[in-house]
Parts: sequence; structure tokens; C-alpha cells
Amino acid sequence: MAQDWKSFEPLLIPDIPNLQQIGVYEDNGGYNALKTILKDQGHWSRDHVIDEVKQANIRGRGGAGFNAGLKWSFMPDPDGGPRYLACNGDESEPGTFKDRKIFEYNPHLFIEGALIASYAMAIDNIYVYIRGEYISWVDMFQDAVDDAYEKGYLGENILGTDISIDMEITYGAGAYICGEETSMLESLEGKRGYPRVKPPFPAQKGLWGRPTTINNIETLANVPLVINNGADWYGDIGAEEHPGPVLYGISGHVNQPGVYEYASGVPVMDLINDVAGGIRGGKDLKAIIPGGSSTPPLRADQLEGVTMNSDSLKEAGSMMGTAGMVVMDEDTDMVDVLWRIAHFYHHESCGQCTPCREGTGWLEKVLLKIKNGEGEMKDLDLLLDVGNQMEGRTICALADAAVWPVRHTINRFRDEFEERCKKSVHAVA
Ligand code: NAD
Ligand code: SF4
Repeated sequence: MAQDWKSFEPLLIPDIPNLQQIGVYEDNGGYNALKTILKDQGHWSRDHVIDEVKQANIRGRGGAGFNAGLKWSFMPDPDGGPRYLACNGDESEPGTFKDRKIFEYNPHLFIEGALIASYAMAIDNIYVYIRGEYISWVDMFQDAVDDAYEKGYLGENILGTDISIDMEITYGAGAYICGEETSMLESLEGKRGYPRVKPPFPAQKGLWGRPTTINNIETLANVPLVINNGADWYGDIGAEEHPGPVLYGISGHVNQPGVYEYASGVPVMDLINDVAGGIRGGKDLKAIIPGGSSTPPLRADQLEGVTMNSDSLKEAGSMMGTAGMVVMDEDTDMVDVLWRIAHFYHHESCGQCTPCREGTGWLEKVLLKIKNGEGEMKDLDLLLDVGNQMEGRTICALADAAVWPVRHTINRFRDEFEERCKKSVHAVA
């Protein structure tokens, strides 16, 4: 990154009191990006907006890191029928809790981004899907939506143009799988949250069979920044290959867990020691999970020079994911950690695909056996083998997300797993 990460001034959740109030947001330049593009019935063409966002390379903040503008460009030309934007605020990935900060502290930045996206893709209906457990944030966000309607930013003839866009909030009922984009579409249609086979991608066939784009909340909150300041300005923030501000959610054995905003590309060790106050009780670091439970863990000795950007983390053997980092100290039992993650994925599998339904169950069962001191050495290879049989053979990415932590935790902490098996009741004396 070009500048010292410590000098970064937050852009997504800046320190402005009462920014959630629409008047305060407007007084601080809020809705200017929307006004810029809509001036005189479309001062910026739809393609101009898409090109600028594509060039900015806003990497999707929901975990996959897909270029947002490129995703928008997949939408077919308007044919007069309905088109949808589904905003994903389900954030159920363990370790991930950053979108709620936007709902709470800067909801209008997200609403403005969603409106710009809708204009660019000729969308007239926005659904905001919020994690069901976030009921307080649903209420807070509803107030912001009501205010935006009252001020004419949402609804009929926005800012006096012939453009009309509606926004509706809906929330989940506690199923992790409803955060998977096609499952979320099923849920929005009032059905059970079963992921759909892709292709067709949602841009071709989404909500009620119509063109739909799904974007994460933080992703859309980045959009007004690009329109106000330009793609080049945005591209200069943080890491070149994954630019822009990032909400880092840091949890686990640190002194000051929380959500912190900095540019992308902050060194992992600086995030732990300088931002999150170091390891609790002055202990040593054992490992991190960098970006939500599906991203492979990294040992402390793998972290030298690693920064929070997709390329650096990939090189180290993991992924950026949602930038929800879980920090584990020297006393952490990696067998326990992995069993807990496997339990989660087994519990949350929707059961449609045999490799996932059965495989996640086997992963959990074998790990429980090892955790309970009944494991055998051959169980470690069995776990890796079951994982290999699951990966890439299912409808959605949940099965892969269950396999990666198992594979990499066993490989990176093999001694610990072997030790547990050697001490097991089945070990040969
Ligand atoms: P993906 O890489 O398959 O797709 C990314 C996006 O690009 C999707 O919207 C997809 O529709 C679109 N896309 C990709 N190729 C396309 C094409 N050829 N044509 C049209 N559109 C295309 O990833 P995914 O399955 O959407 O997401 C998986 C990620 O989600 C994981 O990395 C995981 O970290 C993350 N995740 C996040 C949470 C959370 O709480 N935020 C929860 C679970 C998983
Ligand atoms: Fe359901 Fe798992 Fe198949 Fe995804 S991979 S559709 S969660 S069974």
C-alpha cells in the first residue's frame, strides 16, 4: 500500500456524530453521488456508471471478491419487465459481523450505493435481506429507509426524474444457507432456502425468473465513494489488486475485538497487535482464520509479511473472504476448533446434495471421535479423503467451505491431531 495504513481516515463509517440521520448525511455530502449521475434525467449514462465501477475494481466484500462492476455488466438489456437488486446483509459466516455497522452508523451510504447500482442496471426493485438475528439493526435500518422515501431519494420520480425505485427490507430466520445468493432468492420468493444450480446465473434468471444482481451491503456502500471521487482515486486506496476501504472484523483472543476500518492491505500482525490491542493475557499467537470460517487457518509462522489483501493471503495459503479475522492464542485446541467448524457446516447443510449432506456429517462425526480421545491415525486420512470426495461435487459452495478448513487445519496442525490420536483409547500401547 502506498501510504502508511495508520494515517487512513475512515470512509465507510467515518467519525461523524449522528451520521445515520439523513440530514447529517446530506450535510456531509450525502446523496451527492446520486444527484451527480441523475442530474438532467441521467447526466451519466448507465454504461458510464458501470464502466467507472468496473474500473474501480470494487472486490465483492461478501467473501467471493468478485469485481462488482463486472457483475453488473452481466445484466441483460432491459426488456420492460421487472429487474431486481438483492442486497445481501445475511452475514452468517462465523467470524463475520461488519455489515451491521453500516446499518447502524451509515445506512444512507449503502442506500445511495444501492440506488446508483439500480440506476446503472435499470432496476426498479431493491430487496435488502438482513440476518434475522439482527432484529435491532432491521429496525434501525427501516428508519433510514423511511427517511429516504420522505426526502424523495426512494420511490416515484426520484429527484424529479422519471426514475422510480423501491426498497423493501426482509429478514432471514436463522439459516446460514440463506446467505448463499441463490438460496437467498428462494427465501425472498417465500420458499425454503435451497440453493439453485448455476448457471443460469441470477443476472440471467434470478428473482421470479427475472434479471437480478446480488451484492453485499459493504460492497454497495463503496459505490458512492467511486462516483464522487473517481475510479483512479479509489484504486489508489490500499492494495492495488484489492483496493478500497475494508471493514475488518476482528474477534477471538485479542484485547480489543471489534470492527475497524482501514484501507485494504494492512499487515496481519499490525491488525492483531496495533489495531486489536494484541493477544489477551500477553500470550503468543498460534493461528488466525483470516476472513470467515471457510477461509483456511494460517499458523503464526506463516504470517510474516502477509497483508490483508487477496493476493497476499492466497500466496500464504488462504483467502481474504469477508476480512472477518478470528485470532487464536497459543492455548487454542485446534482439534476443538475444527470440530466446532465442522459441526456448524453439518448443521447448516441444506441436505440437497448427497456429498454435502452425508460428507459434512462424516467430517463432524470423525472429528468428534478424535476430540473425545477415541480417534485413530487412519481417521486423519479418512477426513482428508471424505473432503476430496465432497469438493466441487455439489450445487453450492457450502460443501467446499466445509472441506477447506478440515484439509488445511489437519495439514497445518498435523502434530496436534496425531498427538490426540496417539493418546486415544484405541492407540496401540
Ligand atoms: P462465486 O465466486 O461463485 O460468485 C461470486 C459472484 O459472481 C456471484 O454473485 C456469482 O453469481 C457471480 N458470478 C460468478 N461467475 C459468474 C458468471 N460467469 N456469470 C455471471 N455471474 C457470475 O462465489 P459465491 O458462491 O457467490 O460466494 C462464496 C463466498 O461467499 C465464499 O468465498 C465465502 O467466503 C462467502 N460467504 C460469505 C458469507 C457471509 O456471511 N458474508 C457467508 C457464507 C459464505
Ligand atoms: Fe445444500 Fe450443501 Fe448442496 Fe449447498 S452443497 S446445496 S448446502 S447440500
